[in-house]
Amino acid sequence: MPTTTHHSTTTPVGEIPGIVQRVRQGATDGLLRTRDQREAQLRALRRFLVECEDELVTALRDDLGKPPIEAYSTEIGFTIGEIDHIVSKLARWMKPTRVKVPLKLRPGRARLVPQPLGTVLVIAPWNYPVQLVLAPLAAALAAGNTVVLKPSEVAPATAEVLARRLGDYLDPRLVAVVTGAVPETTALLEERFDHIFYTGNGTVGRVVMRAAAEHLTPVTLELGGKSPAIVTAPTDVEVAARRIAWGKFVNAGQTCVAPDHVLVDRELEAPLVGAIVAAVHRFYGDDPAASPDYARIVNERHHDRLVGLLDAGGFDEVALGGEHDRDQRYLAPTVLRGVAPDAAVMDGEIFGPILPVIAVDDLDAAIAHVNAGPAPLALYAFTDDEELQERVVAETSAGGVTLNHTLLHLAVDGLPFGGVGESGMGAYHGKAGFDVFTHHKPVLAKRLKPDPALLYPPYPKWKQRILRRAL
Ligand code: NAD
Repeated sequence: MPTTTHHSTTTPVGEIPGIVQRVRQGATDGLLRTRDQREAQLRALRRFLVECEDELVTALRDDLGKPPIEAYSTEIGFTIGEIDHIVSKLARWMKPTRVKVPLKLRPGRARLVPQPLGTVLVIAPWNYPVQLVLAPLAAALAAGNTVVLKPSEVAPATAEVLARRLGDYLDPRLVAVVTGAVPETTALLEERFDHIFYTGNGTVGRVVMRAAAEHLTPVTLELGGKSPAIVTAPTDVEVAARRIAWGKFVNAGQTCVAPDHVLVDRELEAPLVGAIVAAVHRFYGDDPAASPDYARIVNERHHDRLVGLLDAGGFDEVALGGEHDRDQRYLAPTVLRGVAPDAAVMDGEIFGPILPVIAVDDLDAAIAHVNAGPAPLALYAFTDDEELQERVVAETSAGGVTLNHTLLHLAVDGLPFGGVGESGMGAYHGKAGFDVFTHHKPVLAKRLKPDPALLYPPYPKWKQRILRRAL
């Protein structure tokens, strides 16, 4: 699948402090204070996405074998949608909010003034290497921050396009791209930022949070986890199967909110597996390797890891797939049945096109299974019974939930997207993204007159009596 050779340049570590300093100067100079200034950058970012679409689509194909329609819908178009939403709401979000002043403090006016945090660092992973760099960037710019971006070296073609082309559109005093791997990110993390927005795995999340602690920098951590899909009667297994297969096999399973595994009522297991197999055949044909709509594994290391999960066994049956080709970084959509709790596939996020289907006695058992592990980033439940839906929502913890579908909660502008517990902290998208990068500064404005003596010492008994009653 990889066709083009990309000579991605790595930012020299010695240049990193100067780059951060340049972008920090942009914040100090207040170059993003007004709505016009922010909108100009957001519109330029939108232009970049429109005008560089072909380059981005090619890079995403080279990095992930991403089908063009997926490249558009989940990356380029998704980010354009996010920018359009932000631009349409920005005036309202930037307005200070009035807050009522209690009688005892009047006269006076209180308000919350949204203010940029300053200069922020966005560290992104490889699986959606456009969206996960540029959607946080849009939010940070909307809130008036200058930004250092660190795309993932694991998606080098996309990182190269971002590093080479973003500067043609965005003001270099406001946005910088640093490319590279651990040494470059480590050097960045030594610098002081006003916020760090990290998307990736929890191990590196801990590294980021530790480094941020040195400067008391707040962090948003967008992590992953084993997101379950529960299927319980009464339901329509065919629709459930189609929607689970779609959510699982888009981007070859390399999606942070992909259903990791299925927990299904025992009596529905066989029909569900049959329906998933049928759905995959309809989506990708008899040979998914030949389908233009099926992506590839990002690199050999991840390919080996996923094949290793299959080789380790711990399941009764490969109901579908299992074929792989290291040279092509291809792993077929794979469905496993009879998976033991201690199977390798059940130890950690799969992050690839392997779907274990686990039969459980009932919904109680499914909920207990979910609650026995760390809180996942997403949770899906397929049932027609609204009471059961509400039980799942109330009795489990997860970053976000879609009922009777997969992935889609993160496409709703008004729903913040983020994790809880092991799946992360903080959230973004829409207004939540603006708020992540904003300090809503409380301001109380008093007039100089009147200036009653009651507040000040000395405090004779009569004053104390009044003050105790007033407070
Ligand atoms: P990755 O390997 O690209 O790492 C992410 C970033 O961390 C990269 O920019 C990388 O350069 C940097 N990095 C790696 N090691 C580092 C170190 N030791 N010190 C400093 N920086 C370092 O991506 P990944 O972590 O493999 O991404 C996959 C994970 O991300 C999965 O767990 C997935 O669920 C999660 N994810 C979460 C979301 C979300 O929105 N919550 C989205 C996508 C992916």
